[in-house]
Amino acid sequence: MTYSANPDRYTSMEYRRCGNSGLLLPAVSLGLWHNFGYIDPLEKCRAILHRAFDRGITHFDLANNYGQPAGSAEENFGRILKRDFHAHRDELIISTKAGWPMWPGPYGDWGSKKYLVASLDQSLNRMGLEYVDIFYHHRPDPSTPLEETMAALDLVTRQGKALYVGISSYSPEETQRAATILKQLGTPCLIHQPKYSMFERWVEGGLMDVLGEEGIGCIPFSPLAQGLLTDKYLHGIPDDSRAARHLGNGAMEEDAVTPANIEKARKLNVLAQKRGQSLAQMALAWVVKDPRVTSVLIGASRPEQIDDSIRCLTNYNFAQEELNMINEILR
Ligand code: NDP
Repeated sequence: MTYSANPDRYTSMEYRRCGNSGLLLPAVSLGLWHNFGYIDPLEKCRAILHRAFDRGITHFDLANNYGQPAGSAEENFGRILKRDFHAHRDELIISTKAGWPMWPGPYGDWGSKKYLVASLDQSLNRMGLEYVDIFYHHRPDPSTPLEETMAALDLVTRQGKALYVGISSYSPEETQRAATILKQLGTPCLIHQPKYSMFERWVEGGLMDVLGEEGIGCIPFSPLAQGLLTDKYLHGIPDDSRAARHLGNGAMEEDAVTPANIEKARKLNVLAQKRGQSLAQMALAWVVKDPRVTSVLIGASRPEQIDDSIRCLTNYNFAQEELNMINEILR
């Protein structure tokens, strides 16, 4: 099958400015953490990526360790890029990261310049790219001086291997320090990637304020709490769901599907239906409603989930009464 992109792909997606930068990102972006490795059929990966791009999703998020085995999501993405998206490279924002364990020994983990520079070279190789659009430090490293990690991010932009840089899961204080160091180096911090959903609200304790004040974009990950904030677990654990697949590498397991979580999801689902939305759409809308959120970073195991999730953009206004009800359910 030859892919030809939908000519109307830019008509319905909303694009938001990433912090104070010149870069616009789609309000919904797609991540390739799961469902894009060697354990997944390549044709399915292709179908999901085609649907996303056809719907105006221009941003694909990867990391060195995504897919099973680690690195295979980048390799599969590289294959699909070469085959189907080659002519569209300049329409795409491709990100990758390093910071979690990737190869054995002292140079394949955390935040040294040695690790970050080598890892980005490997990622570029796997994807068949000359540069990525965004390179992230994937998690804070308590043992490496922040100056060294930020110098590595600055270096890769000067080498032309990344256009922009970002950080992930940094606390408000760490973010403030990283932003100051990067500013001094002349490579501003473009974006922060934190975990944020109705079930995980730590960013509300200061991080969003730092991002707003510093003009740094925000792209929350796991906004559906890996699927818990959808209707899929309301009647048990489907065989093909993430919880049932035992994927490892941080993926949710069956023990996350607790009676307390399901009770909350059930109540939220009733509210979503009153709003004329699926629970997934309402959960994404709730994240996207904050103007400091540049893009919401979803995962998908099939093309239809992309269609369903993107519809969150048709209504992300919440009445105060609805927000109060949501807070009450989540309490
Ligand atoms: P989500 O919370 O969006 O979970 C995605 C999963 O939810 C899908 O695989 C699917 O699960 C289910 N789902 C998605 N849409 C729907 C829908 N409309 N209806 C029903 N079920 C749906 O995000 P992820 O946890 O996948 O994370 C998204 C991205 O964030 C990752 O790919 C990665 O790029 C990034 N990330 C970054 C991290 C970091 O440390 N910086 C850590 C984790 C993720 P199922 O398979 O059951 O169908």
